Amino acid sequence: MKTGIFPYVIVLFLAINSSLGLSGQTDTFEMERKHMVNTQIRARGITYQPTLDAMLKVPRHLFIPDYLINQAYRDGPLPIGYGQTISQPYIVAYMTSVLKPEKSDKVLEIGTGSGYQAAVLAEIVDSVFTVEIVPELAVRAEKILKQLGYENVWVKSGDGYFGWEEHAPYDKIIVTAAPEEIPQPLIDQLKEGGKMIIPVGGEYSYQYLILVEKKKGKAFKKTMLPVRFVPFTRQKGE
Ligand code: SAH
Repeated sequence: MKTGIFPYVIVLFLAINSSLGLSGQTDTFEMERKHMVNTQIRARGITYQPTLDAMLKVPRHLFIPDYLINQAYRDGPLPIGYGQTISQPYIVAYMTSVLKPEKSDKVLEIGTGSGYQAAVLAEIVDSVFTVEIVPELAVRAEKILKQLGYENVWVKSGDGYFGWEEHAPYDKIIVTAAPEEIPQPLIDQLKEGGKMIIPVGGEYSYQYLILVEKKKGKAFKKTMLPVRFVPFTRQKGE
């Protein structure tokens, strides 16, 4: 029987076309994201599936300045303006996983920055409240989160030292700037049984990620990784 190769050519063409999606560029970033998750995150022992799924999904390249877009998925932090940085993907994954976020959780983030960490959490939990002290960053993060369709993230510009009282208590709290001591209002706003991850230490001294668990009203602290975060700044009094 004679069939010829023509039908196969068409099938091959359709297959290639659909795997590229709407644009070759989108596909490149998707491949970079997979590579990032496999080589930087899974390979370093992070196995919490909701975190891996969220980081495979969130387009990190849309949270950084255009001129750095080709470095979006590299293994390090990147500047986002105003002297601030978006954390290294591994650190985002580590902090997210340590909290073991669940579907029904209400999470408070201090230090919105680019909004990337908030988006990763928003993929997993019910609601994310995030506070940023640099108003321009808060506005920019809110815009991109809205454009990407995240309807469960609320951004506020202000001093995160005081948390976000109105929506407290929180199941989980994540702080992405380093204070010298854990702000008491954040411990107060943590739910009984809740968890907080926070880098603690001076700008020029050692900093460690501390995991805080609240049991019977008391904060139990566990020292995790040595890290390097931008300082937790305070708003000057009026
Ligand atoms: N989570 C961010 C990383 C931000 S870097 C991201 O995914 O991109 C830390 C951020 O904390 C900076 O934007 C900085 O302006 C902010 N910050 C520092 N001190 C703060 C404070 N007291 N309250 C709220 N945000 C603060």
